[in-house]
Amino acid sequence: MGLRPNFVFSQSSLQDYLDCPRRFELRHVQRVHWPALESEPALVQEKRQLQGQIFHRMVQQHLLGVPAETLTCMDCEPDLARWWHNYITAQPGSQRPGRPSIERELTVQLGGYRLAAKYDYLNVTTGESALIIDWKTSAHRPSRAVLQSRIQTRVYLYVLVTASPGLNAGTPLRPDQVSMTYWFAEEPLQPVTLQYSQAQYEADQAYLEALVQEILATPEHGYWMAATERPCRFCNYRSLCDRGVHAGQWDAREDAEDLSLDEPLEIDLDQLGEIAF
Ligand code: SF4
Repeated sequence: MGLRPNFVFSQSSLQDYLDCPRRFELRHVQRVHWPALESEPALVQEKRQLQGQIFHRMVQQHLLGVPAETLTCMDCEPDLARWWHNYITAQPGSQRPGRPSIERELTVQLGGYRLAAKYDYLNVTTGESALIIDWKTSAHRPSRAVLQSRIQTRVYLYVLVTASPGLNAGTPLRPDQVSMTYWFAEEPLQPVTLQYSQAQYEADQAYLEALVQEILATPEHGYWMAATERPCRFCNYRSLCDRGVHAGQWDAREDAEDLSLDEPLEIDLDQLGEIAF
């Protein structure tokens, strides 16, 4: 069984492959639904996911023009109240001209398939620059080096530059006109902004093409299991792979901040606009 012809790569599916090729196979090739916890305690995980989702929706609505007073909840959970207060105080991106696109999805061609990115905040000033902002509700702020090397960073910046003619009056944005900010709700005054470059764009293109080709060249039953059991602690296929019984602790997850919106990117292709190259 191979990839479906209409499969859409995303940072989420590529992260699965990087963490464990077998997980990529189970989740995206065989589409195995395996009912197990990714981390414990389950209630904490569920609560954090829900709070993160609500926070993203509140920011989304605020950026679409709903007044902050209307969105501010009087009885919401302390974490959510703190994140919202920090967001309203900082209002990242508000100093840029123009109205940003919210939850914008872009796709580009890669290796005969599509590669998609979905942006929390995307603001393109025609002919000048573009800014991506990604909201994070994690308790821990990764280092700049870790953020720089994340597959999310590489996919988001690469897709935006490649798709930019469709957003910039037909003219591609230069990579040095594009930047990405990770904004942390727990540390609102310490966002991390990553400036893109031509050299990094070319490196990302080569890296992503090679990664996709490696996946496409993998034969059936050729997806190997992770070399160590570290990723298995937070994988719902643990019992299927005979890699342990108990889920790892939620607060030990390095990617805990992403779980609030960590659904595999199921994209309705009919909803996506074609990008002119
Ligand atoms: S349990 Fe471990 S080996 Fe199995 S899919 Fe998950 S990460 Fe891979």
